[in-house]
Amino acid sequence: MSFGEPKLISAAPAFRKSLLLWFFKNHRPLPWRKKISAYRTVVSELMCQQTQIATVIPYFEKWVKKWPDFATLAKAKESEVLAAWAGLGYYSRARYLWQLARQVVDQENSPRTAAEWVKFKGVGPYTAAAIASISFADPVAVVDGNVVRVLARLTASRHHWQDRSVAVKHFTPLANTLIDSRKPGDFNQAMMELGALICRKSSPLCEQCPVSRWCQAKDLGVAEKLPRFAARDKKQVVVQRALVTRADQLLLKRHPLSARRLAGMAEIPLLVDCPISSPSSLWLSKRRTIGSVTYIEQIYTIQTETKHRLRVTHQVGLEWVKFSQLAQAALAGPHYRWIQEWLSRGDRTKLGKPLSKP
Ligand code: SF4
Repeated sequence: MSFGEPKLISAAPAFRKSLLLWFFKNHRPLPWRKKISAYRTVVSELMCQQTQIATVIPYFEKWVKKWPDFATLAKAKESEVLAAWAGLGYYSRARYLWQLARQVVDQENSPRTAAEWVKFKGVGPYTAAAIASISFADPVAVVDGNVVRVLARLTASRHHWQDRSVAVKHFTPLANTLIDSRKPGDFNQAMMELGALICRKSSPLCEQCPVSRWCQAKDLGVAEKLPRFAARDKKQVVVQRALVTRADQLLLKRHPLSARRLAGMAEIPLLVDCPISSPSSLWLSKRRTIGSVTYIEQIYTIQTETKHRLRVTHQVGLEWVKFSQLAQAALAGPHYRWIQEWLSRGDRTKLGKPLSKP
C-alpha cells in the first residue's frame, strides 16, 4: 500500500460525491449511455477494447440498429457479423460477441454478476465488471488503464510496474474500496471518464479536477510522471504487402477457417505471396505497435492488365474481389481503412465509385 492510500480511503464518501457530481454534469453523451441495457453495454465494451471511442460510435449505432438485442444477434450469420465488424480490427471480439449472444439466449436466467459474465469467452474481468456494474448495479470496480492512472496519481504511487496488468491487480482492491455501492455503474464510468478527459496521460487538467483536493501527486508536482512502468525491449518487424489491382478488382488473401489467427478474414497479401513480376511502387508506410512489437507495414501498389491474367495461387489463399464487394469481404484490422485511403486518392474513373463504409 502506498502512503497515499489510507488518506484516500478515509475520504471515500466525500470523494464519491465530488466525482459523481462532476460525472453527471460533464460526461460525454455516448450512444450506449443514452439507453442502458446489458446487450448495449456488452456490444460497446467489446467494441471499445483496443479501439478509439470516436471510431466505435458509428459502428455501434449501425450494429444496434441491425441487431437490437441478444436474440436478433444470435440469429445472424457469422459472415454477416464479421462483415459488420470490418474496419474495427481484432475480429475475435466479433466472434466472441456473436457466440456470447447465442449462449445468453440459451440460458434460462440472464447472467447478472461480474462473476457470471467473466465465464464467457472474450469477457475478461474488466469487461465483466463494466457490464455487471452498469447494467445490474453489481458493486465491482472496473480497473483499466485510465483508472490505474487516476489511482496511481491520487496515491502518488512511485512503484515501477512491470506492465499494466500488474498495476491493475495492485489497484483493484483500492478501487473496490472506493466504489459507490449505490451507484457502482456511474462510479465506474466516472473514474474512466475522469482518466480520459481530465487526468490525461500527458498534461493532466488538475485545475479542473473534481477530486484534486485528495490528490497526492498534484500536491507533490509529479502527476505527469505517474504511473511508472518498467522500460520494455522494443522489437521492429518490416511487413511488405502488395496492393494488386486489375480493372475493377483487387487481389486479397483470405485466411482459412481453420487458421488460429484471422480465420475466414481477408487482408492485403504479402508481397512475397504474389506471383508478380510487374514493376511496383511504395505507396504507404505505416507503423503499428502491438504489445512490444512495432510493425512497419509497407504497401506496394501494382496494376496489372486484364489480358495478363495473374496466376492466382489458391494454396496461399489469393482471390480477386471486386471493389464494389469489398465492404462484404470481411477485411482484417486496418486493411479496409488502408484500401479506402488508397481508393480515395486513386483514379476513380478507372476504379469505380469509392467505397461506402460497411
Ligand atoms: S489532480 Fe490532477 S493528477 Fe490528480 S487526479 Fe486530478 S487530474 Fe489527476
